Amino acid sequence: MSETTNAFQIAQAQFDGVAAQLNLESHVREILRWPRREFKFQIPVRMDDGSWQVFFGYRVQHNDSRGPTKGGIRFHTSETMDTVRALAMWMTWKCAVADIPLGGAKGGVAVDSATLTVREKEQLCRGWVGAIHKNLGPRTDVPAPDVGTNAQMMGWMMDEYSKLAGEYTPGVITGKPVGGGGSLGRREATGYGVVYNVREAMKHLKLDSSQTSAAVQGFGNVAQYAALGFTEQLGGKVVCVSYWDRNDKAACSVVSPKGLDIPFLQGITDQYGTIDKSKATAAGYTIEHGDAWLEQDVDVLIPAALESQLTGETVKKISGKVKVIAEGANGPTTIEADEHFKKNNIFVIPDFLCNAGGVTVSYFEGVQNDMNYYWNLDEVLQRLDTKMTGAFHNVLQVSTREQVYMRDAAYMVAINSVVQAMELRGWL
Ligand code: NAD
Repeated sequence: MSETTNAFQIAQAQFDGVAAQLNLESHVREILRWPRREFKFQIPVRMDDGSWQVFFGYRVQHNDSRGPTKGGIRFHTSETMDTVRALAMWMTWKCAVADIPLGGAKGGVAVDSATLTVREKEQLCRGWVGAIHKNLGPRTDVPAPDVGTNAQMMGWMMDEYSKLAGEYTPGVITGKPVGGGGSLGRREATGYGVVYNVREAMKHLKLDSSQTSAAVQGFGNVAQYAALGFTEQLGGKVVCVSYWDRNDKAACSVVSPKGLDIPFLQGITDQYGTIDKSKATAAGYTIEHGDAWLEQDVDVLIPAALESQLTGETVKKISGKVKVIAEGANGPTTIEADEHFKKNNIFVIPDFLCNAGGVTVSYFEGVQNDMNYYWNLDEVLQRLDTKMTGAFHNVLQVSTREQVYMRDAAYMVAINSVVQAMELRGWL
């Protein structure tokens, strides 16, 4: 049988495996392997040429036992109910493992936002909120940006919700622009959170980070700050980043065995994560095929693009030197690839632990909105580091004590915390 790359089937299979190890009762498993609520809705938009286009929007709220649900809105052509369900479920585990008092949700629209004008994008964002606003709110469900969405779009969405609610409600959405209710450090949060996890993993594995190298898939928000932190904070070298080239409509990689200058690459990357090839080539870098990030002789791989990228097939390309996989993306690894990593003793920092920095600073943003008082960048990053380091060591401790794979340990921490909240609220 061929392996599944359906994100929701993977999320359920991961959950089922750990639920069995934890001996969860069948009704508890049934509650947690499905979302509590799901919405699919139409968003008609009048395009700039006068025509109408009808988009499909999604919102899935997986579990709210630990607090209001929280999760990003993704604008991507391959968005389906199943990708949103999987991402919502992973958000529940992410908030629990990071010990943030929130539940899990996710949303999206099946669209390539790069094809929309600014006005069309604003209409789509406002339409998304208009369709679902009764089920959103600072104490109900709080969206955030994800692939294909950004701070400006969150600003429009917050404004639309505030109009409908009849009062300024910054806490309804996070990832807003700084100066428009956003938090300093949100831009860097997910990538830096990945780096704090890698730093702790290297201490555990007794690796000198300044002597290590990494290859990264993606060069969007998460990947850029993970790459920047890896070079600037850990002193390591990033030798390859891959990205989706919007002009060629294909994945490509930028490679330099001596190490890439990340701030330079950021300067030649557009808002959708496409790197200017001619400028990269002029700087002495080579352009290779999309899978080149997998094939580098590096210590660390950081998938930070989309789900189901490390499969039973693609892991065959990975060099024997790789010791750490830091999952910046959500769900980048299939069940078969996980088996390969277990067998080869590769240390995996699972997605919902590794990339929890984003939701952590999103939570900080909501806290600052509630207080109407804002922290400086150092305070935000310091609090983020404390949260990430604490979460990493909680999971590592369970992994060591129970002799289980890091992903299973993270699930154990998260599921136990959610089940306890459901019990305390009298749901079980
Ligand atoms: P983004 O839209 O900013 O960047 C996505 C990047 O992936 C772009 O560089 C794009 O070129 C690249 N890409 C797309 N398809 C590709 C392919 N086939 N091969 C190589 N590169 C490809 O998105 P992001 O916010 O950086 O999110 C990346 C991942 O991290 C997603 O899985 C997202 O769910 C997850 N995540 C994001 C955050 C956050 O705060 N942004 C938080 C947690 C998890």
